[in-house]
Amino acid sequence: MSENKNLFFQLTKNLNNKKDPFISNRDGTVFSYEDMIKLSGCYANTLSNLGIQKNDRVLVQTEKQIECIWLYLACLRVGAIYVTINPDYTISETEFFVKDSKPKLFIRSHFSKNFEINNRGKVLDGTIIKHLQNTSANSLSVIASSEACEFKTSYCTNDDIAAILYTSGTTGRSKGAMISHKNLFSNAKTLSHIWHINANDILLHILPIYHTHGLFVAFNSIIYSGASVLFYKNFIVNDVINALAFTTILMGVPTHYIRLIAEKKFTKQSAKNIRLFISGSAPLSSEVHTKFKKITNLAILERYGMTETNMITSNPYDGERRSGTVGFPLPDVSVRIRNLENGRIINNGKVGIIEVKGPNVFRGYWQMDERNEVDFQSDGFFITGDLGFFDSAGYLNISGRNKDLIISGGLNIYPAEVERIIDALQEVNESAVIGLPHPDFGEAVTAIITLGDQHTTLNEQDLRNHIRDKLAGFKVPLKIKVKDSLPKNAMGKIQKNLLRTEFKDLYSNKA
Ligand code: AMP
Repeated sequence: MSENKNLFFQLTKNLNNKKDPFISNRDGTVFSYEDMIKLSGCYANTLSNLGIQKNDRVLVQTEKQIECIWLYLACLRVGAIYVTINPDYTISETEFFVKDSKPKLFIRSHFSKNFEINNRGKVLDGTIIKHLQNTSANSLSVIASSEACEFKTSYCTNDDIAAILYTSGTTGRSKGAMISHKNLFSNAKTLSHIWHINANDILLHILPIYHTHGLFVAFNSIIYSGASVLFYKNFIVNDVINALAFTTILMGVPTHYIRLIAEKKFTKQSAKNIRLFISGSAPLSSEVHTKFKKITNLAILERYGMTETNMITSNPYDGERRSGTVGFPLPDVSVRIRNLENGRIINNGKVGIIEVKGPNVFRGYWQMDERNEVDFQSDGFFITGDLGFFDSAGYLNISGRNKDLIISGGLNIYPAEVERIIDALQEVNESAVIGLPHPDFGEAVTAIITLGDQHTTLNEQDLRNHIRDKLAGFKVPLKIKVKDSLPKNAMGKIQKNLLRTEFKDLYSNKA
């Protein structure tokens, strides 16, 4: 038999240089690497005793808590498939994920809601339901506490599925991305190397752990490097500023950096212990990048990835971290751009669809063979649905999602290009440029913005003139609407679909 490719085995087999603790919890509890091995073993035995076997799905929907990490690692060790979803989903949304993933075990905090789910057609029949952490006998952590901790990690091949994470499904139904042990290990190893993560590092963890960023990018690369995690349930800006003194890496989304630079307490001195600020999951504006650098003298390192592909590109650790770009393809990852109109591969720096291939790319969507045919090219490249281009120095620039591309009067407008101009204005906090139905143009370029402070006023015509100075006339928004805030998901991504719905009649007679 060839070497065990189980992610847990691979992540932990060379842990000679680890530095304890593995996790320090905000509440003061501390877990060493030995605790991690033991606890994941106790949980793995618990799963086995419940009848969970290789390839069974374990669906997890709980608040952020450390026990999720033991459970995640236990699933890996058993060879079960870890499926985790946002605890904020409603009953009917949750019902969809249960029906789709058909879990053998469902771990959740909102027990009372299970009855409602089941009433809608016995979707939970045959599923074992447990709490994760409370004092009842039905709690996995209580059962695990009296289990043996010795557990032989099961044998897996590279292509065995370690996890299914659902895409956010803003345009259609959420799709379950099947992510293999190899996908996760290759990314963990690569990120650990390129970001120089080592046993002396302490990651300040403030991201949700039902998403690829907070779970895989953070935990897998930390374990592989034998480093430590300071585990916070959420992002409270003052707490984070205080914690920077005890940590060395922060992984965040742009919203976190926007909040940090807005605080007077956030200074070069408060950030002096951190050697690496990483941003991803949504575009980081050049303004935030610049302001951040001005305060700290450190350049945020922006990277790009998605649930289906794990991480794809990163700005360099050494060398220029170019703002407004997501850097270079990771060492073992191939990225190419395909012309939207003629389907040819582009090598001239023009915008097209980003395609990606490598050990990081998922194995396809769960039970959606028809989608897998559409979303992969015959030579194995995955069609990301993002638009972008390589600049002359080889940095990848993201121009937005293909579905957000605006076609107005037959001309293509890439929202990111217009947003960059608007965001650069001092009065503007954030912007979202969207296409709305228009009787003449098909779609009309429209900007929805938020202002820096309530007392700022902005003349719409002045703003349009400013954009016209920088961009061709057809890219200038026909209308600009001001809102107090833009709708965002938990990863800080602006939900343009909600804005399109809200303003759908802006150019019709109904408006
Ligand atoms: P998710 O699957 O939730 O991680 O979302 C992935 C999507 O987020 C990508 O397809 C991109 O559209 C977007 N994304 C991730 N990182 C970045 C980034 N650094 N800049 C711009 N968009 C990003």
